[in-house]
Amino acid sequence: MRLVAILVVVLLTASACGSGSDTAAPASTTAVPATTTSTTEPTASSQATTTAPTTSAQAPTTTAVSTTTAVPTTTATPTTTAVPTTTATPTRATVVPPLTEYLPPTVPGGDTTFCQLLAIPAPLDTDVVRVGFPRPTKSAPAEGTVKYALVLVDFPDAPGRQDEIGPVHESVDLVSAYYHSISDGRLTITWVKSDEFVRVSQPSMSYDPTVGNPGGSNHPWGVLLSEEIIALADESMDFSDVFGVFFYTAAATPYEAAIGPGGWSMFSMMDHTIFSTDEGPLASAYGLTSSQRVRDEPWATWAHEIGHTLGLADFYVRPDPSSFGTDEYSPMGHWALMASQLGATKSMGAWNRWLLGWLTPQQVYCAPPVPLSNAEVTLQPLVRSGDGYKAVIIPINDHKAVVAESRRSEGVDVNMGGEGGVLVYTVDTSIGHMQGTQKVQLPDGRDPGRQSYGAWPDALLAVGDRLTVEGTTIEVLQTGDYDRIRFSKAALAETTTTTTTTTTTTLPPATETAGVQDGTFATCGSFLTPNDAQTWFDANPDFGESVDGNGDGTACGDGDFGGATDCGGRAPVLVLPQFCDQYQT
Ligand SMILES: [Zn+2]
Repeated sequence: MRLVAILVVVLLTASACGSGSDTAAPASTTAVPATTTSTTEPTASSQATTTAPTTSAQAPTTTAVSTTTAVPTTTATPTTTAVPTTTATPTRATVVPPLTEYLPPTVPGGDTTFCQLLAIPAPLDTDVVRVGFPRPTKSAPAEGTVKYALVLVDFPDAPGRQDEIGPVHESVDLVSAYYHSISDGRLTITWVKSDEFVRVSQPSMSYDPTVGNPGGSNHPWGVLLSEEIIALADESMDFSDVFGVFFYTAAATPYEAAIGPGGWSMFSMMDHTIFSTDEGPLASAYGLTSSQRVRDEPWATWAHEIGHTLGLADFYVRPDPSSFGTDEYSPMGHWALMASQLGATKSMGAWNRWLLGWLTPQQVYCAPPVPLSNAEVTLQPLVRSGDGYKAVIIPINDHKAVVAESRRSEGVDVNMGGEGGVLVYTVDTSIGHMQGTQKVQLPDGRDPGRQSYGAWPDALLAVGDRLTVEGTTIEVLQTGDYDRIRFSKAALAETTTTTTTTTTTTLPPATETAGVQDGTFATCGSFLTPNDAQTWFDANPDFGESVDGNGDGTACGDGDFGGATDCGGRAPVLVLPQFCDQYQT
């Protein structure tokens, strides 16, 4: 029983949220006091602007234009006159009148269940995060109220200051405001906040999160420290109905402390047995890193981690220190909370909102599976409330789709800059956590122009811009209160025989997985074959129990959690259970 409990602990990532980003940003240039940040982040006031009926406030000049001029859209739609599609010329804004009216699509959307692309391979019950449907059922609920706890922690050598407490409390309130905004009020996050620091027993540099953890070997998870903190906090805090706990370490904590640069990783466990309190178990624990960059806006990192508790995966590629800051590392740039919480845009993109149930079928235009030519759809900006489609999802096959959504520099994206536009990206549900599942698409010749931790405004399509991806061409016809796009697409690709090949080609090559360094966690679900798992296990014995729960020296073997199986007699050889779907009865 105990082993099982240990094995189902899934490390979501240390770097995610923390160390990878931390290393790139000079602290001095980004030392924005949290209180300053809070004025532009999703506070209650900025949220009000988000949810306000922005159509009236948004277009002071266009309201002067009588709507009748906008209504005859036939003048705007013939691209021959309005849209010089070959180039994105600066004249476009003067040629095309602002779009002030929500126009219905020229082709009715298809069945939105086609756009609920399934996770491939079929997800395991133990998956904590997923890219495709269905959302993990044991995650925190995405609707209603979810309670988290904030615990303030300091050390004998790094005492907390009283004046730290107020801003930290404000920062977790920002998390609540953020989720209220992006979920359109569906998710309410409440907090139990400690109002004093709990002091742990050892100096900050004495905690080595690589030793003394459950299972008796070396997890970089800080489990012992977490247990100590929770026990201390439990004396005075009420953890009733708390899903997960977040630790704030005193600002004086040295960056070099073992618990520092990467923070704790998120622990997330499916059976809620690791951390117990007087009031019941906790499903997750996360310690904020002590890097200045993260401390500048701690709410954003907490919001990202809460995204994991909701079952969302990281969009960046499995940490490889050499690739930090590159497109290869971050194919989604800073365009989504789960890609990077530290960039100028903080939105949760339409795909994840769809996955979480925060976009209704009425808000998703799901392209029908037939070929389409010059279909037009109007998009309501993602950041605003109001009726209308907030996403166009164009399935390419059973596991890949092109997504278009409208972005504006307001609300949670207020620091984005620019005039907004249409963001196009691909989603691949056969690629998982930390494997680059979402990828921003750029028009030909577009210079990403991305700045470290800055926006990537050039990625947005403006009027006249077009791009082609996966046989789908998307162009922007008109902008204003809404964005009007036109797209053409081929038929849905045949996928009847691709399951096996897809699985084989999209998972990381065995050599990569086998070569991951200590500090990266793997489970049997990370590998293509038991042999690959064994290779990795041999190279990374410190992580042994994650693949060799029964301690017999064989990784992902019979008796190991997620270990090899004959799939109930269907498979001719022993395979990892995530591949059982390939073998029909
Ligand atoms: Zn993450």
